[in-house]
Amino acid sequence: MKNILDFDYSGLQSYLINEIGIEKYRTDQICNWIYKKRVFDFEEMTNLSKQDRSFLKDNFVISIPQIIKKQVSKIDGTTKYLFGLDDGNTIESVIIYYPSRTIACISTQVGCPLRCEFCSTGQNGFVRNLTTGEIAGQLLAMEKDINIDVKNIVYMGMGEPLLNFENVLNSIEILNHPKMKKIGARHITISTAGIPHRIEELGDVDKEFRLSVSLHAPSNVQRDKIMPINHKYPVEQVMQACRIYQEKTNKRVTFEYILIKGFNDTREDALKLVELFGDMKVMVNLIPVNSNPANFEKPSKKFIDRFLDTLINKGIDAVVRAEKGSDILAACGQLKGKVKEENLR
Ligand code: SAH
Repeated sequence: MKNILDFDYSGLQSYLINEIGIEKYRTDQICNWIYKKRVFDFEEMTNLSKQDRSFLKDNFVISIPQIIKKQVSKIDGTTKYLFGLDDGNTIESVIIYYPSRTIACISTQVGCPLRCEFCSTGQNGFVRNLTTGEIAGQLLAMEKDINIDVKNIVYMGMGEPLLNFENVLNSIEILNHPKMKKIGARHITISTAGIPHRIEELGDVDKEFRLSVSLHAPSNVQRDKIMPINHKYPVEQVMQACRIYQEKTNKRVTFEYILIKGFNDTREDALKLVELFGDMKVMVNLIPVNSNPANFEKPSKKFIDRFLDTLINKGIDAVVRAEKGSDILAACGQLKGKVKEENLR
């Protein structure tokens, strides 16, 4: 049985026509039920004939991740979901509310192979890539739960999106397609720890999504200590790939930089970053490190402000990212591991 959420628009259309014998114009109706009305049962698709519904049921399932646990922040409404997948694996996704927009943070892998020191996801290792339908399905499941059309997506949940390249791109195709989820590509952000050849390939994808790179340290000596992937792809290679990406797309690249007390938070570190960026068009998100397996600490406000000011004085667009959902450990890299711990208590 195939998960209908694995199909992009043209793939679904040709499957319906060629394999099942359902008329072409029905594709839009089916997509409308699933992606706009969030109806996940063919029987409820009342504008389809009985026969078409039964053909659909014989060929497809509509497999949506199941909510196993849900936590809502009392501080800011941030909502963290633990989802169960068909094979019993679990992943997490988060809904974050800002005054002007709602953002869905979704996962791309069960676990993560990168094992960054500060991140909880990698601690239990890597299990498998998510399918296209599992990636897109997280959004549908959350939308159905909160009954809101979410218009912003960040691929910043569990896993490394660029190590699940094909399914991530397919899911973007589905989320972006006007007849499917219809989320503006500009409102979709892929976050990566930096897989150079994939960053370059992203530059050839003709879509206006945004790229965010988790840099976190301005030198190889420092980055090696917190991100093992840096041994394989050193900082210069990542930056060079970003340059090529920018040449191809003319898009600004966002860099994520977690601030860790006594590790990467000095004025000199900020100046090294500026040097790394050179004449690239960049935006920097500074994130005081969240509670993490390695027990890294956040710098004091004085250090954070000085780091920010150093970047801004050098003409770099930078902000300190506000912490969301701290009471439910919804922040980046704190997913699942914590839920597991809590369940064991
Ligand atoms: N693998 C991708 C996407 C998932 S991680 C990536 O590396 O970008 C999403 C973001 O959360 C990354 O920027 C990651 O470095 C950050 N993150 C992980 N653990 C964190 C922590 N303890 N505090 C702050 N940010 C963290």
